[in-house]
Amino acid sequence: MSKALTSFLGENLADLKDKGLYNIIDPVEGPNGPIIKIGGRELINLSSNNYLGLATDSRLKEVGKQAIDQYGVGAGAVRTINGTMDVHLKLEETIATFKGTEAAIAYQSGFNCNMAAISAVMDKHDAILSDELNHASIIDGCRLSKAKIIRFNHSDMEDLRKKAKEAKESGLYNKLMVITDGVFSMDGDIAKLPEIVEIAEEFDLITYVDDAHGSGVLGKGAGTVKHFGLSDKVDFQIGTLSKAIGVVGGYVAGKSDLIDWLKVRSRPFLFSTALTPADVVACTRAIELLMESTELHDRLWENGNYLKAGLKALGFDIGVSETPITPCIIGDEKLTQTFSQRLNEEGVYAKSIVFPTVPKGTGRVRNMPTAAHTKDMLDQAISIYEKVGKELGILA
Ligand SMILES: *Cc1c(COP(=O)(O)O)cnc(C)c1O
Repeated sequence: MSKALTSFLGENLADLKDKGLYNIIDPVEGPNGPIIKIGGRELINLSSNNYLGLATDSRLKEVGKQAIDQYGVGAGAVRTINGTMDVHLKLEETIATFKGTEAAIAYQSGFNCNMAAISAVMDKHDAILSDELNHASIIDGCRLSKAKIIRFNHSDMEDLRKKAKEAKESGLYNKLMVITDGVFSMDGDIAKLPEIVEIAEEFDLITYVDDAHGSGVLGKGAGTVKHFGLSDKVDFQIGTLSKAIGVVGGYVAGKSDLIDWLKVRSRPFLFSTALTPADVVACTRAIELLMESTELHDRLWENGNYLKAGLKALGFDIGVSETPITPCIIGDEKLTQTFSQRLNEEGVYAKSIVFPTVPKGTGRVRNMPTAAHTKDMLDQAISIYEKVGKELGILA
């Protein structure tokens, strides 16, 4: 190894470990369901993004196995050579129907989708107005486009309007875009899409909503854009197939012209192998299930509301969430980590999230209840929260 690399890695790893910021990964020994096994111990799992429990759904496993028998384990090529199978087109048609758009394009992940879509449309002559709390993949996608990035304060519509007006009137840019998460994953708050769309119309902004945490959760499952009845007014509806849908992949839903353009100009579509047939078929079936019934969606909300009510009644600060995402805000970073560690020892897996992921002094344990949790599991989790909260002096 080069001396430069040896010292870079040595110094930086030691620094992270010193500061307690080096993340140790706990491997899960089995499925990522409501109960997970780690280090031989069974824990109530409140840290997955498997909102509807579909990651382990027997109906999806079945169609996935059939697809492997019929098509093999890999797609064999990138989409634009001969990696587009009939099942990929079926998935894209199903996504478009689900989202109520003319068309859709699927990518290998949600992260990849943001790398693909932003830079296919925006360039160095353009500017992007981006919410300061947008997901890392949006930030990277914006950087890749080389457009000027103008950050606005989180969900602050006055700030957005002011910055959109300045950008428009400066005459410096060809195109302007506004990008926001649909649901912000650290606090569970929802983007103010009606105001964002109104500002976009006033200043001719392209609208881009990454609904990774909203799809399957809001709008009876169809997402944040549908929740606000804005399907016609948002240009890019981004989603992931790895959270509520339970598998892997990402997509853009929008007008046919937009999707046609992405199919010829978005680089991961042209230069990275297509999603596997089993993934594609499982995703399609998952979306069909969501269109057939709101049962899983309803159970997710019931469980989310139940957990929130339970933690709030104990006296925890659960923040401003408007979705099933349930942060339990502890504040001090060290205390937050100890809290999460003690929950783990008592049987609850809920990760701590601290600075720099969230602002200093707002350390939290974030809970992700799912449709697959039973009331019993949630009751157990709540009583463990009570025990640990009292033990650490967070609850009176
Ligand atoms: C999770 C997430 C992604 C990444 O999605 P993957 O499919 O896991 O790559 C992108 N954007 C947002 C807003 C997310 O929350």
